[in-house]
Amino acid sequence: MTEQPNSLFVAYNQGNEQVPRQAIMDAFEESGIQTDDPRAAALFKALKKAPEFISHSEFQTLQDIAPTLFEQVLSGQLAIPHFREFCDVLDKIFTQVENNRDGKLANYIPQLERVPPEKFGLSICSIDGQRYSQGDSEDFFCVQSCSKPITYCLALEDQGEDVLHKYVGTEPSGKTFNELTLNAKGLPHNPMINAGAIMCGALIKQGEAASDRFDYVMSKWKECAGNMKVGFDNAVYLSERQTADRNFALGYFMREKKAFPKDVNLQEVLEFYFQCCSIEVTTSAMSIIAATLANGGNCPLTGAQVFRPDHVKNCLSLMSSCGMYDFSGEFAFRVGIPAKSGVSGAIMLVVPNVLGMAIWSPRLDELGNSVRGVDFCRELVARFKFHTFDSMVGLRDDRIDPRRNIYEARLGGVISFCGAASEGDVKEMRRLVARGLNPNTADYDRRTALHLAASEGRLSSIRYLLELGVDVNPVDRWGNTPLDDAERQKHEAIISMLVEHGGKRHDERRQAKKASE
Ligand code: GLU
Repeated sequence: MTEQPNSLFVAYNQGNEQVPRQAIMDAFEESGIQTDDPRAAALFKALKKAPEFISHSEFQTLQDIAPTLFEQVLSGQLAIPHFREFCDVLDKIFTQVENNRDGKLANYIPQLERVPPEKFGLSICSIDGQRYSQGDSEDFFCVQSCSKPITYCLALEDQGEDVLHKYVGTEPSGKTFNELTLNAKGLPHNPMINAGAIMCGALIKQGEAASDRFDYVMSKWKECAGNMKVGFDNAVYLSERQTADRNFALGYFMREKKAFPKDVNLQEVLEFYFQCCSIEVTTSAMSIIAATLANGGNCPLTGAQVFRPDHVKNCLSLMSSCGMYDFSGEFAFRVGIPAKSGVSGAIMLVVPNVLGMAIWSPRLDELGNSVRGVDFCRELVARFKFHTFDSMVGLRDDRIDPRRNIYEARLGGVISFCGAASEGDVKEMRRLVARGLNPNTADYDRRTALHLAASEGRLSSIRYLLELGVDVNPVDRWGNTPLDDAERQKHEAIISMLVEHGGKRHDERRQAKKASE
């Protein structure tokens, strides 16, 4: 049995049965897969040791180390195919938003008031683990209310939806996050405000020692973050506990209304809540946590199923309606991305099935949301179709959908390959060949990628096609070869390259054929 040619190898080899190691490294770098990605560690190590030019069998060995990731990266089948371009736009938004110095630091505890106000970090992680960071993305900050979605998911895992929602509602409260108020049943309005988060905390690992409960929560945060470091800010915790009259009042109010389950130690429950607010992460880690939510509870970097998908669905629904304090309705309307904000200036955003994002900039607006954070989100949806209901707008909208592979979406199959060739987009052509596309195939006018590249003067496409060994003289429906096209458009460099590779005009080709008959 003859061995099937490896289409990835075919796409990347340069006509000499070898693939440059650099081409593989470049593909990984551009894809956004980072060197500390646990899925890629062994592969990167092997790549470092690999020769500069990689043979078919060496290529196969590399591919076998991380087959799925290797194929996804080399054939561009990741959640955000044109990742570099996407990040370039994020960079621009970041620089623009950085100039915004409005807002004030939270001042109810000294630890938050002391944070340098200029700090600004941004990170994203796609559901395929493509990552990008900008600014102070490795600084730790306390998560504050960004802990609430995770506390809610943990309580759901423990109790299930039906039991948990006997203790906490699902309605926006229409009141501030720490307002001394409960719903008509005497329960917290929802898990995204203080009373609801205190209640959810009481329902995680009930009856276990406080130390074990906190250990458990930290281990879950770490699991969500793909094992990146998750810390704890003891000074914030002590301050929170000391200045917690309102949260104590909420606790007593709920106890008075008999809202808690039996045998709850109120002091412990409140301390647990302050501890959760004092967990600290970087935007880099928080974006992975958000991506775990975007990926239905499955961490993109480790494959760990941390939460059940239906629980994540519940969580995202409540983040959409209640996650941004008294700005939640407006945010759902204008931005339309499930998000949770905290008074440390953090915002965690989840674009379902695409990516997670974390922004941290400590200056807050009067509603308690990070000024730059909200500004960034507005700019983001002005450029990308990330609003939950953007699919309604359809073709009348020329904002970018970075999920889509641009050529494939526009044309599909062979035509997308011709489209990429005519644009000189060799990377896209390579990805399509890696997916098994035959570079010789023609469209309904019998025009091939070589024809299109020749008419449009795309030297890089021509070079790549010739390296692949395509037929140099296909004839289209009007009787033209690629050389005819290049001559008509007077693309001199292409004319010489085609001639060098045996390119003929259609009439020459006919004459040659006749002469041989
Ligand atoms: N620790 C704060 C409180 O409970 C959390 C505030 C927040 O981030 O919303 O008051």
